[in-house]
Amino acid sequence: MQNSSSTLPIIIIGAGIGGLSAAIRLASAGRRVLMLEQNPQVGGKMSQFCAAGFRWDTGPSVITMRHVFAELFAAAGRHIEDYLTLIPVEPLTRYFYQDGTVLDASRNWPTMAAQIEHIEPRDIEGYLRFLAYAARLHRITGPAFIYDQPPSLRSLARVPPWDVLKIDPWLTLNQVIQRHVRSPHLRQLLQRFATYVGADPFQAPATLGVIAHVELTGGVWYPQGGIYAIAIALARLATELGVEIRTNCPVQQIVVKNSQATGVRLTDGRTLDASTVIANVDVTTVYQQLLPPEIATTPRRQQLTARETSCSGYVMLLGIEGDHPRLAHHNIFFASDYQREFTDIFQQGIPPNDPTIYVAITSKSDPDHAPPGCENWFVLVNAPAVGANFDWATQEADYRQRIFATLKRFGFDLQPRLRSQTILTPVDLAERTGAWRGALYGISSNQALNAFRRPHNRSAHVRRLYFVGGTTHPGGGVPMVTLSGKVVAEMVLADSKVMLPAPNAPP
Ligand SMILES: Cc1cc2nc3c(=O)[nH]c(=O)nc-3n(C[C@H](O)[C@H](O)[C@H](O)COP(=O)(O)OP(=O)(O)OC[C@H]3O[C@@H](n4cnc5c(N)ncnc54)[C@H](O)[C@@H]3O)c2cc1C
Repeated sequence: MQNSSSTLPIIIIGAGIGGLSAAIRLASAGRRVLMLEQNPQVGGKMSQFCAAGFRWDTGPSVITMRHVFAELFAAAGRHIEDYLTLIPVEPLTRYFYQDGTVLDASRNWPTMAAQIEHIEPRDIEGYLRFLAYAARLHRITGPAFIYDQPPSLRSLARVPPWDVLKIDPWLTLNQVIQRHVRSPHLRQLLQRFATYVGADPFQAPATLGVIAHVELTGGVWYPQGGIYAIAIALARLATELGVEIRTNCPVQQIVVKNSQATGVRLTDGRTLDASTVIANVDVTTVYQQLLPPEIATTPRRQQLTARETSCSGYVMLLGIEGDHPRLAHHNIFFASDYQREFTDIFQQGIPPNDPTIYVAITSKSDPDHAPPGCENWFVLVNAPAVGANFDWATQEADYRQRIFATLKRFGFDLQPRLRSQTILTPVDLAERTGAWRGALYGISSNQALNAFRRPHNRSAHVRRLYFVGGTTHPGGGVPMVTLSGKVVAEMVLADSKVMLPAPNAPP
């Protein structure tokens, strides 16, 4: 029996963080929501893994913009503290350089100033000026590019012309950093923020400096229990609000009739009707796999697949004997030639020969994530999206040795003390989450205009089909996809008012 469209659920394909955020907003507004997730667990790229007495987060590890999560819980009439314990992390990150320098990035100004004084006294003022510049970027670009509906000519017209000049639209992130600080150490530290959206600081626009603001001024937060606690908390809230979450439930196709999404077909052959469909799947994957050919035409698919992607990641989950008091919760081991790293990734399509290595150790904050006397290392190296120039199946083992050798040079000889190791390549990331070519953050943010070229949250080709998550507005990263849920929920609710007959209209 066919339900009337007003009682049909809104179907969300995928229970990543963006999908969960949209579900919470829509259920809070009284809508019926059904989430269909292909994996046995929710969270998407935010996931966890246990082996040999160790526990690791396998995806995101750095959480910024606490206010975004607090606001989501508040929108549902809840207090975030009742669901999550978010602890400020200090130092924000410990940076290790090839020349032996170690720098603890800190929100505590005397701590930070003392270290800059030691490295390059003239940079104290430059660093403060950069922080002020990054805060200004946040004030100017936030309303148009981060917190609200996708940018349009109308929304941009609200940005005063003198503010446009202040965001240096013609400069790269690297160029503005060079204008503010002299020390190669500080420059590299600030350049790294482009990688938070999988971009190259030597090509990406200066506006990505906004990421430095949210971390260096706003801080880094760790959810007690591990990053995956966020996924658990959001799924709990969604369920409390009446959202039905079905895991192990892969969607095969979005059903489209007369250019309108009417439901989904599951891989088991069943069809589920929906009033609206929201895809939390990578938009390129939706066009490649989930839309019927008359909608996903070859030119439309090619338009998406031809775009440069953000970078992917090579992940090692290591269970290691011994404590490492020299290390903090978040650590970076910098490459000597940072520009070369991005040339390798974006021009050569190969993982960096001399990689910068990120290591997160949650057992520093949650000791039960590793057996006594051991640590759980999450090792992440920037890597190109899956492509023809590097074959992970045959070349991964050699690349792993390169990472171990680099860490050994920094004084960490891990291989004799390994109790457990699990590898995730860009191919695994693509297979597990549907990320096109394993790219972590959708299309690349290397060009200034890419913020406008990001696929819109409202489908351009199918009515009542929407997109949420890291490959649509406002972009990738856990806080951004949480905001994406807000954007799409507001869009769906506004559109449904337009589509419903006016209260006094004749039936
Ligand atoms: C290794 C790594 C490190 C990262 N580090 C950070 C970090 O430190 N900080 C940060 O903020 N961000 C980080 N990110 C990025 C962040 O994890 C993502 O931007 C964010 O989690 C993406 O959420 P999403 O809403 O786009 O959904 P996704 O996580 O992409 O989830 C999509 C969901 O859709 C499901 N799905 C796909 N196809 C189907 C189908 N046909 N049927 C049903 N379900 C389907 C998938 O299984 C998945 O659960 C990292 C990501 C990775 C992988």
